[in-house]
Amino acid sequence: MQAKPSNEESRFVTEKLATMDLRQKIGQMTMPERMHITTQDITAHGFGSVLSGGGSHPGDNSPLDWVKMNDEYWQAVMESSAGIPLLFGVDAVHGHNNVKGATIFPHNLALGAIGDPALVKSIAAITGKEVLASGLEWSFAPTLAVVQNCQWGRTYESFGCDPVKNGELGRAFVEGMQGAGAMACAKHWVGDGGTCHGIDQGETTVDWQTLQATHISPYLPVLEAGVMTVMVSFNSWNGEKCHGNHFLITEYLKQELGFAGIVVSDWDGIDYLDADYDTAIAKAANAGLDIFMVPERWREFMAGLERHVNEGRVPMSRIDDAVSRILLTKLRYGLFELPRPAERKTAATDPGIAEEFGSVASRSIAREAVRRSLVLLKDEGALPLTGQERILVAGKNANNLGHQCGGWTISWQGERDNTKIQGTSVWQGIKAQAPGAVLSANLDGAEADTKEHDLAIVVIGEFPYAEGMGDVRSNDQLLVEAGSMINGLMNPLEPYSRSLELAQVHPEDLQCIKRIADAGVPVVTVLVSGRPMVINRELDSSSAFVAAWLPGTEGDGLAEVLFGKAEFEGRLPLPWPAADPAPGEEQPKTLFEVGYGLKAGEGVARARVA
Ligand code: BGC
Ligand code: BGC
Repeated sequence: MQAKPSNEESRFVTEKLATMDLRQKIGQMTMPERMHITTQDITAHGFGSVLSGGGSHPGDNSPLDWVKMNDEYWQAVMESSAGIPLLFGVDAVHGHNNVKGATIFPHNLALGAIGDPALVKSIAAITGKEVLASGLEWSFAPTLAVVQNCQWGRTYESFGCDPVKNGELGRAFVEGMQGAGAMACAKHWVGDGGTCHGIDQGETTVDWQTLQATHISPYLPVLEAGVMTVMVSFNSWNGEKCHGNHFLITEYLKQELGFAGIVVSDWDGIDYLDADYDTAIAKAANAGLDIFMVPERWREFMAGLERHVNEGRVPMSRIDDAVSRILLTKLRYGLFELPRPAERKTAATDPGIAEEFGSVASRSIAREAVRRSLVLLKDEGALPLTGQERILVAGKNANNLGHQCGGWTISWQGERDNTKIQGTSVWQGIKAQAPGAVLSANLDGAEADTKEHDLAIVVIGEFPYAEGMGDVRSNDQLLVEAGSMINGLMNPLEPYSRSLELAQVHPEDLQCIKRIADAGVPVVTVLVSGRPMVINRELDSSSAFVAAWLPGTEGDGLAEVLFGKAEFEGRLPLPWPAADPAPGEEQPKTLFEVGYGLKAGEGVARARVA
């Protein structure tokens, strides 16, 4: 747990605070996005922090471009009147995923299928080092959401549905990242994984006991591990948006749980508190937010907050609480002692550090995570492969790094091809294990022929998405139903699809499997997806079926398990649906329970749990 400030720390904070005027204090509380500011703005307003949104990057997006950017920001802020160094934050949520050449680890849901805190700790340590190598300080991770409904577009950002496991893995993440010297951020406080129908940014309707037991409990070990920041969630709890909830932020997180660090808002999260922006600002400030992520509207925000304080609607004591926490956290982080980013020993300006970025060593940890996260759902004896078979490789996700990395990779919504991501596609991984394997010309398996192929590996699944754009929503009535319970506004994004059933969403996948199976060639299917999906028909047409989640850049890890270099060991971190939820129902029927997962060859022995 972040301890209460020592006498020495209190003295430092009080003395510093006493030298600051209201505008300088509000500067500390304001976090704009890099695309919407200049270095002149930084000097003029003395921002306490700046962020890069998903996909927002300087120059050619090399680690050195990032160092240069933050070095310029450092210079600019040191020339501001308060001269307090800023924190730069970014979503390094599965590796340092915005930056060219970074190791992209499997998304959290895959790590939940492994459930090994030590592995999560080393992944977070590598991620933290890569954040530092690029001259930054802060990552908005880990996500502690406890997913109740896999229709939610952020399902893959979560470790799964078990609050205890999510807490353990979250703790390991914080130990790894902060141990490496970067700042972590537990998000999203609180109830993000419990919204009705899994609607992103929606309404979580549960009593206090359930909120505590399910959604708050993973935060306890993470707070104990000393996480320095917590991000507030877009969702509402029983009709009230978290961003305006004084009880959840101030009375419970800060006072009851004793959190001494920074509470940061989500991206424009305060906007949904009221149609009138000024009213929203006051509500959020009085609820207890310390840093306001106001990517574009920072001028309006700063002016509004200043007016509120001058006119008595937000007390100065609230401003001082926020700024004291920001100063204390910067002090504890060691920010006042650190040289400018380009001169830090941890930055890629040092050739040794540059060499470690996306290195073979970090990729081998990512490969281990891929190997261990695969969940075998069915195997009628097709696996493991020997490498001597004549293999046809097909399916739209077979040779596509963008698809296998998912959302939050280089761009916010993810990539659609191999051009911007450095890694090994599943196809390349297979080719390394089975030199005789061939890639289907159009990826559709049209050439399948028993005379030429002993077997096919078909890699199917979803396209990348992030946040609400990944929601599955059967009809927009649901939105009205959930939205009507919210005291505030909503920002629903166009959903990914209307169904969890893969054959409806991506009929090309089932067609590909059937085309090959109908030609008499047995099919091993690999599903690349951000969540469990309804796959009954694909399963029936396959001899073996692997859930590979969103594995990231190291596709050879997947091939190693198909070819028996390692055993299948992943276990479902969420229940696997047998159908879409029936109208009026929240939960679909279950095909496989949490914890399900076979070993190769075990496939017919354990029947489906229907
Ligand atoms: C997401 C957060 C993220 C932030 C900054 C928001 O839209 O909800 O998880 O940290 O953007 O990119
Ligand atoms: C940004 C994301 C952010 C999202 C919120 C995007 O434009 O890149 O980082 O989470 O907006 O709406």
